[in-house]
Amino acid sequence: MNLRNVAIIAHVDHGKTTMVDALLAQSGLFRANEATTERVMDSGDQERERGITILAKCTSIQWNGKAGETRINIIDTPGHADFGGEVERILGMVDGCVLLVDAEEGVMPQTKFVLTKALKMGLRPILCINKVDRAHADPDRVLNETFDLFAALGATDEQLDFPVIYASGRSGWATLDLAQPNDNLHPLYDLIVDHVPAPAAQARVNEPFQILNVLIESDPFLGRLLTGRIHSGKAVPGMAIKALSRDGKTIEQGRITKVLAFRGLKRQPIDEGVEAGDIVAIAGMSKATVADTLCALEVTEALDALPIDPPTISMTV
Ligand code: GDP
Repeated sequence: MNLRNVAIIAHVDHGKTTMVDALLAQSGLFRANEATTERVMDSGDQERERGITILAKCTSIQWNGKAGETRINIIDTPGHADFGGEVERILGMVDGCVLLVDAEEGVMPQTKFVLTKALKMGLRPILCINKVDRAHADPDRVLNETFDLFAALGATDEQLDFPVIYASGRSGWATLDLAQPNDNLHPLYDLIVDHVPAPAAQARVNEPFQILNVLIESDPFLGRLLTGRIHSGKAVPGMAIKALSRDGKTIEQGRITKVLAFRGLKRQPIDEGVEAGDIVAIAGMSKATVADTLCALEVTEALDALPIDPPTISMTV
């Protein structure tokens, strides 16, 4: 299966939630009535009810476009400066990002913050100038502003050569050329599939299992859930694994009890297991935490983790 892992980054209110809803609705994964009635990524009330901070969210869509059937994991990345280290760790799970910038408001402080991180991680962003339907939208000015920001932040030539797409997430359309209006988001899906590389990890599927924990959360039924992108091998329920700290010490040994992958709005247990490159949550370990590596018993070295700085972010759908 073709796979893409992409982050969506933006200043608050520039339309991430609305865009991801629209991408999910048009991906055809859900019946039309379900897709339009629920705001996928904005489960704020529920988060408050459960009393946990949820700042990074993942949704997974299936897109059958020019390149064939492709699963796209989209991670909504927190834009706030308080969560610097976490943003980097989250960006470490993706191979590309879509930078949304409001066509009227233009570049804002969190645009700069998240773009700095994305460029530093070596990602080659797609620029999506969003809300072009706004009365005072000025996409040309916003494109220039954003280009200047890339340059000021030291973007490489490759990063500066970013593709641009214009969109109205709320009206559910995107176009590569504003002179050619459109009524769907298909060009955005195709651009993601074209521009974001497939995860390099997919080539390591026959190596021993390894995953770097990026997010930790507690599930009332499954216990500790550790989320990351599988670096190599395959995560299969029942498999014996161990957890290594950053310096390679064994923290605990145990078995995977559940492997959850993102499918549309929800996380689903995948009994047959999930292969390298995909983003999964793993249940079964009780001590391992963020920046630890879960791996097959024969593995002796931990994966390289970025520095940890609290607070820890949970991921949910
Ligand atoms: P987020 O904070 O980035 O997740 O932004 P939201 O998706 O919650 O959108 C913020 C506000 O902008 C909401 O009031 C949306 O209705 C509005 N909005 C989102 N997309 C568009 C768009 O394409 N055009 C216009 N005019 N407004 C939009």
